[in-house]
Amino acid sequence: MDNSVLVVGGGIAGLAAARALRERDIPVEVAERGGARSDGLAINLPGNAITALTALGVGDGLRRLGRPTGRREYRSARGRLLFAVDEDAFWGSDARPRCVRRSDLLALLTGGLDVAVRRATVREVRPSSRTEVLFEGGERADYGFVVGADGVRSVVRAAVTDQSGVRSSLLSAASWRFMAPNPGVDCWTVWSGAGGAFLLIPVDDHEVYGYASGVRGGAIGGSPEWLRETFGGYPSPVRSVLESITELYHSPIEEVRALRWSSGRCVLIGDAAHATAPIWAQGAALAVEDALVLAALLAGDAREPGGGWDTVGARFEQRRRGRVTHVQEATDRFSRAAGLPTWLRNPLLPVIGPRVYRETYSALRTLDIHPPR
Ligand SMILES: Cc1cc2nc3c(=O)[nH]c(=O)nc-3n(C[C@H](O)[C@H](O)[C@H](O)COP(=O)(O)OP(=O)(O)OC[C@H]3O[C@@H](n4cnc5c(N)ncnc54)[C@H](O)[C@@H]3O)c2cc1C
Repeated sequence: MDNSVLVVGGGIAGLAAARALRERDIPVEVAERGGARSDGLAINLPGNAITALTALGVGDGLRRLGRPTGRREYRSARGRLLFAVDEDAFWGSDARPRCVRRSDLLALLTGGLDVAVRRATVREVRPSSRTEVLFEGGERADYGFVVGADGVRSVVRAAVTDQSGVRSSLLSAASWRFMAPNPGVDCWTVWSGAGGAFLLIPVDDHEVYGYASGVRGGAIGGSPEWLRETFGGYPSPVRSVLESITELYHSPIEEVRALRWSSGRCVLIGDAAHATAPIWAQGAALAVEDALVLAALLAGDAREPGGGWDTVGARFEQRRRGRVTHVQEATDRFSRAAGLPTWLRNPLLPVIGPRVYRETYSALRTLDIHPPR
């Protein structure tokens, strides 16, 4: 169908794109293959994610999920406070960062969405003036536009560039994520030492979401024993969480550094375009922002310059490249700093930490997206 859009992937990026397109009355279908997910976990949403989700129309529902993070504390492996950030003051009341369960966020994005989500796996996309899509099982269909929201191992990316662009995070090739009873932590708190970083964020008064990884790149232990060996000597909130984990996932931290995000009438968004290690927790934020910008361009919003679906890909890249590059560069800088020897890093962080937080997030505070009329 020449005027309809296929979104490949029903994760945060794909569902946000489907919502943003429906808001603008553009016919849209989602193809989601289903399968392994980490919905039992939670997700940290910084202020610009809250702003983007509010612009998408789900701000009221979002405020009922999870808990505001309130404040960030960066601590040494022995528990000494290196620096803290008052997140509520930095972001303001409309964009208070929150930690929410992933399943709740996906349900919020799906709620009231009158879009068909087909259980289907896309095998190949051939972009031209009409975009041909091949599904597993042999079915073929034409669409006016295809959005690749199919994650790090994107199939749609092959239609846009012959480079995979996938690499391991400089911080750590993998991470452990988990849920546990809250040991009394009341804000976003990370403990970092030579062997790794251990982050806890309250999701509510009773439960915390946790993340643990190495800090000097390369592999980490694939057995939960690695958590006890690396963090067993950390202060008591960490030790008591290690004894009481209820859900535990080990997964690679892969990044996508793609030189192109579009070709013809096909565009990549979210992790398919620019998966980035979660140091600044920008995955959901960038995905939802991508969706909003793309929908405005496809709707030919009068305030967007140019026109026509053939040029949307190039205009999308032009609008989004600078912001994504800013996040990628900030991620690389922090990854290198995290790997410094602790005798150097611990005295340095109280001096540069607050400034790095401010510089990274100040550039992301405003969102240049016009809501639908
Ligand atoms: C360890 C870790 C911690 C993270 N923590 C945070 C955090 O705290 N905050 C944050 O904002 N971000 C975080 N992220 C990143 C965040 O999860 C993602 O950036 C965000 O979910 C956007 O994902 P997406 O929708 O682009 O891709 P995905 O979530 O990967 O969704 C892609 C979807 O496409 C489907 N799919 C794939 N191939 C096909 C196909 N061929 N046909 C049909 N369907 C297909 C998949 O089944 C999947 O549902 C973290 C990531 C990692 C690895």
